[in-house]
Amino acid sequence: MRRSIYSSDHEAFRGSVRAFLDRHVWPRTEQFIEARAFPRDLWIEAGRQGFLGLGIPERYDGSAAEDYRYNAVLGEELAGVSAALSSSFGIHYDVVAPYLVELVGEEQRKRWLPGFCSGELVTAIGMTEPSAGSDLAALRTTAVRDGDSWVLNGSKTFITNGYSADLVVVAASTSPERRAKGITLFGVETGMDGFSRGRKLDKVGQPESDTAELFFDNVRVPHANVIGEIDRGFVHMMERLPQERIGAAVSNVAHAARILRETIEYVKERKAFGQPVGSFQHNKFLLAELVTQIEVSQAYVDQAVMAHVAGELSAVDAAKAKWWSAQVQNDVLDACVQLHGGYGYMNEYRVARAWRDARVTRIWAGSNEIMKELIGRDLGL
Ligand SMILES: Cc1cc2nc3c(=O)[nH]c(=O)nc-3n(C[C@H](O)[C@H](O)[C@H](O)COP(=O)(O)OP(=O)(O)OC[C@H]3O[C@@H](n4cnc5c(N)ncnc54)[C@H](O)[C@@H]3O)c2cc1C
Repeated sequence: MRRSIYSSDHEAFRGSVRAFLDRHVWPRTEQFIEARAFPRDLWIEAGRQGFLGLGIPERYDGSAAEDYRYNAVLGEELAGVSAALSSSFGIHYDVVAPYLVELVGEEQRKRWLPGFCSGELVTAIGMTEPSAGSDLAALRTTAVRDGDSWVLNGSKTFITNGYSADLVVVAASTSPERRAKGITLFGVETGMDGFSRGRKLDKVGQPESDTAELFFDNVRVPHANVIGEIDRGFVHMMERLPQERIGAAVSNVAHAARILRETIEYVKERKAFGQPVGSFQHNKFLLAELVTQIEVSQAYVDQAVMAHVAGELSAVDAAKAKWWSAQVQNDVLDACVQLHGGYGYMNEYRVARAWRDARVTRIWAGSNEIMKELIGRDLGL
């Protein structure tokens, strides 16, 4: 079905993203997997092309796109290469950017945003802890005021870009007895004394995104690095989660759609019993179902993107887009593996990697169960 949310300007932007990917990413995908990281030169190149500063005003060297559809186009194209590429870069330009634009003072904006846009300052967001994931209000990292600074103690886990980030937005408890109402956000610069990283975590998929544990041992953070209001961190995070979730949904659908297209090409070529495997009625019907699932999901996600552009995307609708797209992505990719037969289980095939890479989308940024909990609550249940 023809999509109608993008103008010729968005499509021209898509062209420039594709040119960047053709030149700087596609030839190096194996190298990223082996290094288990995206090298800094890639960030710098993305910054040079203006891709990192989409949501950042021009006075801080951003590209000031002021239209979420540019974020969506970028997310779609990155996800077409790999889920890891869209998640690592997405955390930076799509998830962290609003915190640094909307919630910090002028001094911090001037200090952080030009590097954010150029790729010299890579960011991460640290909410999850070993004993607090879905139940974020249970986090145990503390921050205690001491004169002009705050002293942070605790740890975070599963942090995307955690191994390479220069700046991490960290959620810490400033009033532990108040749980969700006592959380504050801090900009922790990773050179600060007492900050350390654990090993790069060994994941089932997405090997090229660096995911790490972070440790805070009496890290002294200046008061100026407080992001947003004291004790309002939970609200700040909740307010920004719809963007994170629609960004995830955009990537989920684009990732699955791309691999599905590649699978359709494969089943036209691969023969069994003297005919292309795609032409067996079972497989033809299966592919008809998969294409329909993608297109129907795309229509909902597109509608949600437009709602976000209009500033009207509700947390509940973002939750619907996120869990649904993650489920469809996982179902479609599982079927694509099946359609590849044994080759679908070989890591050298993109479909195998995509299948492993996608498993986490039902878990992170609010699991499918948590999304359904939010939707159920909205039904008055
Ligand atoms: C690769 C990867 C990258 C990540 N990147 C980041 C990052 O950059 N920053 C960050 O802060 N976090 C990150 N995360 C963490 C991620 O958001 C959490 O893993 C997720 O929120 C789930 O938390 P948990 O792992 O503690 O699971 P738990 O909260 O322990 O949940 C375990 C199971 O119980 C279910 N469950 C929990 N509560 C309920 C409930 N009320 N009703 C029904 N079921 C429930 C969950 O859905 C899940 O199935 C990442 C995780 C991974 C795996």
